[in-house]
Formats: sequence, C-alpha cells, structure tokens
Amino acid sequence: MTNSTPSTDYDYVVLGAGIVGSAIARVLAGYQHRVALVEARDDVGDGTSKANTAILHTGFDAKPGTLESRMVSRGYTLLADYATHTGIPVERTGALLVAWNDEELAALPGLQAKAVDNGYTHCAIVDADEVYRQVPALGDGALGGLTVPDESIICTWTTNLALATDAVNRGVVLRTGTRAESVTVENHHTILHTSQGDITTRWVVNAAGLGSDYLDQAFGYDRFHITPRRGELLVYDKLARTLIDKIVLPVPTSRGKGVLVSPTIYGNVMLGPTAEDLDDRSATGTSEAGFEFLLGKGAKLMPRLLDEEVTAAYAGLRAATDYGDYLIDVDEDQHYVLVGGIRSTGLTSGMAVAEHLEELLDQAGALPARVGTPAPPRMPNIGEAFTRPYQDAELIAADPAYGKVVCFCERVTAGEIRDAYASPIPPAGLEGLRRRTRAMNGRCQGFFCGAEVAAAVEAHPCPRRVASPDREGEAAR
Ligand SMILES: Cc1cc2nc3c(=O)[nH]c(=O)nc-3n(C[C@H](O)[C@H](O)[C@H](O)COP(=O)(O)OP(=O)(O)OC[C@H]3O[C@@H](n4cnc5c(N)ncnc54)[C@H](O)[C@@H]3O)c2cc1C
Repeated sequence: MTNSTPSTDYDYVVLGAGIVGSAIARVLAGYQHRVALVEARDDVGDGTSKANTAILHTGFDAKPGTLESRMVSRGYTLLADYATHTGIPVERTGALLVAWNDEELAALPGLQAKAVDNGYTHCAIVDADEVYRQVPALGDGALGGLTVPDESIICTWTTNLALATDAVNRGVVLRTGTRAESVTVENHHTILHTSQGDITTRWVVNAAGLGSDYLDQAFGYDRFHITPRRGELLVYDKLARTLIDKIVLPVPTSRGKGVLVSPTIYGNVMLGPTAEDLDDRSATGTSEAGFEFLLGKGAKLMPRLLDEEVTAAYAGLRAATDYGDYLIDVDEDQHYVLVGGIRSTGLTSGMAVAEHLEELLDQAGALPARVGTPAPPRMPNIGEAFTRPYQDAELIAADPAYGKVVCFCERVTAGEIRDAYASPIPPAGLEGLRRRTRAMNGRCQGFFCGAEVAAAVEAHPCPRRVASPDREGEAAR
C-alpha cells in the first residue's frame, strides 16, 4: 500500500489522540503503513480521556449483545494485560453495588443475570450485613448489594500516554495543535484541510470523540449526533482513603451508572459523576449546582466523607449519542472509518476497539504486511499503591534528582519532572505535566511548589509537532 500511493503524505491519518485514537494508531503502526495521529489540542489525552471516573470496567452492567458490551469485556482483558507490561497503575479493588430501597433490591438478581449474559460470572448477591462488613462507613439504609470483584481503578492519564508513546515508538507521526477542519475526498486519497495546512492520506480514521459527528458529516453522513453529557466529580483528601477500599456503585438507571464513591489510583477518594446534557461541547467547568448535588448524594452514601476536605473538583464530557451503541463503520469507497459513540466506557474499551477495527480493515483488504514492533514503553509510576521514585533508595542513590521532592503533597521529584520533558511525548504545558507526574495535584493546589513547577514548564516551550519518527526510515518502509 505504501508504494502504490506515493503521492499521499500518509496511508492512515487517525484524528483524535484520546485513548481510542491512540490505541488505533498504535495498532495500525504494526503494519507497513505511514500513520499519523492528528490532534487538535497541544497534547495527547487532553479531551474526555483526561477527565473520567477511571474505572476499568468488567462490563457486567453493559447492555448484552451490543458492540459496547463486547468491546468493554475484551478491553478489560487487553488493558489489564497491557498495564502489566507498561506499568500503568491498576488496582483490582472490586466494586459493591448497593441497593437502597426495595425496588433496587429487587433489581439485583436481574443485574446478576445481566452480568452473566455479558460473560461475567463472578457477581454475588449479598445481604445488608455483608454490605456493611465490606464498607463499614456506608450511610444508613443499605438493604443489600451485588459484588463485582474484578472492577478495578486505573490511571487514565498513563493509559492514554502509554498508548500514544507506544504508537510514536512504532513510527507514528504525532501532530498536535492540528485541527481537521474540512475534507476533500478524491478518487484515491483524501485531503484533510487542517489548522496547520493540508494533509493527504489514503485512509482517514475518525476517532475525534466529541467532534466525531461533525467530521462524519464532512464525509457526507448524517447518522448520529452528539450531546455532551457533563459529569462532575469531587476529589477528597487522602485522609479519606481509610473510609473505603472498593468502588461503591448505585443501581444503574437508563441515564447512566449514577453517582459512585471510589478510591482513586492516586490515594484519594472520588465522589461522582453527575450526568447533565448540555449544548456546549467545551463546557468542562464545574458548577455550584453540581457541587451541591454531589454533596447531597455523598451525605447519604457515606456521611463521614463529608467531614473530609474536597481538594479538587473536575468535569468531563461524555460523547453521548442518539444511537445507543458504539458506531464503528468502514466506508471502503471513501477510505473512511468512523469510530463514534464511545460514550462512557472508552477508557476500558479503547484497545478492544482498535483490535476490532484491525479485523474490519483486514476483511476490507486494507492491511499490508506486518512489521516488527518495539517492546511497549515502560511508563513512570504515578500510582499510590506502587513504589514511587521518592521511596526508592536505590534509585535515589543512583540519581539524586529522584530524592529532591518538588511537590510535597503528591511527593513528585525533580527527576520525574525532568523525565517527563525528556520523554517521547513531552508535556505541552502545566496540565500535561500534572497528568504525567501528579505535580500540583495535591491539597495545597500548588501553593508550595507552584513557582518551581511553573519554572520547569516555562523552560520547555510547547512543541507543536511533539514527536515523529525518522522520516528517512519511514519512507523506506
Ligand atoms: C464523567 C466521565 C466518567 C467516565 N468514566 C469512565 C470510566 O470509569 N471507565 C471508562 O472506561 N470510561 C469512562 N468514561 C468514558 C471515557 O472517558 C471515554 O469513553 C473515552 O475517554 C473516550 O476516548 P476518545 O479517545 O474517544 O475521546 P477523547 O479523549 O475526547 O479524544 C478525542 C480527541 O479528538 C480530538 N479532536 C476532536 N475534534 C478534532 C478535530 N477536528 N481534529 C483533530 N482532533 C480532534 C479532541 O481534541 C480529543 O483529544 C467516562 C467519561 C466521563 C465524561
């Protein structure tokens, strides 16, 4: 394919460097292809993939028979396995779904049966005594529960970064700060008109999350519409962590999974998310109404949580659609692939979506010979349950920068900040550095380390094209 289309810049352009697009680019780079990962923002993982509940779902409560159910179940296995190879922090905390009234109690057997339909057989119904034995700090009134022992918490930031880094290491050209604005589909290629000029490519993969319906329309379709569904969350101080060691879920409704309480991979406790349909696709700010709503829920779920301090609040936008399932489609005539409707489970399913797409493209005869790929990257650990550099005496002896703590709340060292900037995809700004190191994520909100961290950011101006392979080597493939 590469040799037959010498006039195009790329064989595949993947639009959107969230978890889904990064996973797809990584898979496509396993073939004899010139692949670009094109992202409107200045950094990878800066869309919905940065602000979610960060649960690695078993898929026990998905709608059986849907593509989403299949992708979540498979994605759970793929990502859990990938995490062990790359060092993405994951904790298999398990979850407890709690029934608070008779109607919810009566729904538990149905949920257990649904889990079995989804291929997950480890759920068990437990009585109220067992619920309180497992989570003593739970508020009064729980009538029973359903255990989901394999639900896990994971670092969504490291997941996105690992997949994108892996893609770049495999030869993908990452072009950040490049928004696809319109397209011209020609006979054998497509011209993407972007904020950084035109890009020509044989195939386009639309993994643009909240922007995917607009791009789909640019290819002449009108098959789904996105409504941004905001989810706000509160993060409680690390002192609250002793209150809870597993994810506490409500009985899900048609509008979503509801408000949960969960430990986070960084050692905090999280309460949320809300579910509010909006018009504005950029409305990732938090609201007073959301805050009050969550406090009300928290007061019932776990009253003692409200005695602890909220150290952060954030919001993410689910790409909710009117379609009701994942929408993955290969248009062989236009050499165009839609990966849409990846609404509220895409962190878990991203790698399975990439695998599924690989199968579809293979069936379409759009994949040439495989190429050898490098080993997956080993990611820096920012999970609280695993050894961090400041705790590693041997590492500090070898390199004292890991003994110099810069952010005291989150115990981030100068060595980690240095490494982030020396990595294949360096941060594009302060937010990116936070996601790579946890710097300034703590209870003081950067009061102590703000100046030093800001100086590190200023010393590294935002790169637009963050990472690209050797173009000579690429042309030779
Ligand atoms: C509150 C909340 C809680 C959630 N909890 C969970 C959970 O616990 N577990 C789970 O598995 N999932 C969860 N999710 C869902 C999960 O976060 C998403 O499904 C996933 O992040 C989607 O990834 P993505 O790559 O499709 O989208 P994104 O991460 O949004 O990436 C799309 C990218 O495309 C870029 N883009 C858009 N338009 C263009 C354009 N024209 N040109 C170039 N680039 C463009 C954007 O800038 C963006 O970076 C949650 C979501 C929310 C909001």
